Amino acid sequence: MKNINENQPQLLPSPSYVCEESLLLNNLKLLKHVQDEADVSILLALKGFSMKSTFDLCRQYLKGCCASGLNEALLAYEEFRGEVHTYSPAFKPNEFPKITEISNHIVFNSFAQLDLYRNDVKQHNSLGLRINPEYSSVEVDLYNPCGVYSRLGITKEEFLNGVEKYPNSLSLISGFHFHALCEQNFDILEAVFTKFEENFGQYFKNLKWLNFGGGHHITRKDYDIIGLIEFLKGIRAKYPHLKIYLEPGEAVGWQTGYLESTVLDIVHNGINIAILDASAECHMPDTLAMPYKAQIRDASQDPTEKTYMYRFGGNTCLAGDIIGDYSFDAPLKVGDKIIFEDMIHYTMVKTTTFNGVNLPSIVIKRTNGNYENVTNFGYDDFKRRI
Ligand SMILES: *Cc1c(COP(=O)(O)O)cnc(C)c1O
Repeated sequence: MKNINENQPQLLPSPSYVCEESLLLNNLKLLKHVQDEADVSILLALKGFSMKSTFDLCRQYLKGCCASGLNEALLAYEEFRGEVHTYSPAFKPNEFPKITEISNHIVFNSFAQLDLYRNDVKQHNSLGLRINPEYSSVEVDLYNPCGVYSRLGITKEEFLNGVEKYPNSLSLISGFHFHALCEQNFDILEAVFTKFEENFGQYFKNLKWLNFGGGHHITRKDYDIIGLIEFLKGIRAKYPHLKIYLEPGEAVGWQTGYLESTVLDIVHNGINIAILDASAECHMPDTLAMPYKAQIRDASQDPTEKTYMYRFGGNTCLAGDIIGDYSFDAPLKVGDKIIFEDMIHYTMVKTTTFNGVNLPSIVIKRTNGNYENVTNFGYDDFKRRI
C-alpha cells in the first residue's frame, strides 16, 4: 500500500479507479437513514460493488451482503463479516456445503433446487424462494430480470406447479425474495410489490421475511426517499411479523469516484482519436453493454459543443473499443489525464484482462484527502486467468 499526498494526484498509477471515501460515506449515511427510519435491513449487493478495502466503513452502516454464489458469499463472510444472504440461479453441489456453513439466508431459484438441497441445509440457514413478480419495467433486456423467458425467479404458474409437485416444500420456506428493478425510483417498487402481494400475499402469514432485491436507486438525487420510507413503513405496519430486506448494489457505489486514465497517443482519421490506457471493453464495460456515455470531467458529452472534438478509444485491438466522442475547450496532448466520472459500481467487478491490457489500480481517496493505493495489477493477473 502506498500513500499519496492530496496535492499530488499526478503520482497516482494510471489507469486507476479512485473511490472517494467521503462520497461513499454520504451514500452509506443515506441508506442507514432509510434503514433506521423504515425499520428494514439493507444489504450490500456484492455484484455491483465489492471493493473490500471499503468494507470496514460499509459495515458500520449496512447489515451485511447479498451474494450470488460461493465466491461472493466467502467475500461477504471473510471481509464484510455481517449477515450473508446467498442466492444463486442454480447452486453447485460441490459449493453448496460451504454456502450452508457461511450463509444466514439461502434463496433458491426453483422448487427443484430447494428439493435437491433440502437435506443439506443447516439449522442456522433461513431459506427463501426467489419469485418472479412478472412486473416488467426495465427497458434494457440485459438488465431486465422480469423479461420474457427470464430464468430468474419463479412465476406464479410455476409456483403453483411447484407446490403440487413438491408437497411439504413450502413448510421449509421462511421468506420470499424478488429482484425486479434496475436504477429505479420507489414508484416502480410500489407497483412491483402490488403485483407481488396480489399473487403471493396469501402465503405471507407463514413467512418471516421478504427481500425486495436491488435496483433501488436510493442515492440518486431525485430518488423519493420520503416516499420509500413511508411505503416500507406501511408494509411493516400491515405485516408486522415480516422483516424487510433491501439489497442495493449500485446505490452504494453510485457517484463515489472516477476512473483516471492517460492519453497515450492522438491519431487522425477524419477526426481526432485519442488512445487511452483505459479501455471501454476491459474497464468500463457498461459503456458498451448498457450502453451509455460516461461523463468526462471538464469536457462536454456533446462532441460539437466545444471547439476541440476527440473520440476516445481503448488500448486494445478491438475496433469497437470506443468510449465515445467528446469536446474540449483546449486541444489535448499526450500525457493529459482523462477522468471518467462515476466509475466505481459495476466497473471493477466486471473488468477483464482481455488482450493483455492491464487492470486499473484501485485507490481510495481518504476523508483526510490523501490517496491510498490499495491494489496494483500486472502480468501475473493476466497470466493466471488464461
Ligand atoms: C444485481 C442484484 C442486486 C443489486 O442490484 P443493483 O441494481 O446493483 O442495486 C440485488 N439482488 C440481486 C439478486 C441481484 O441480482
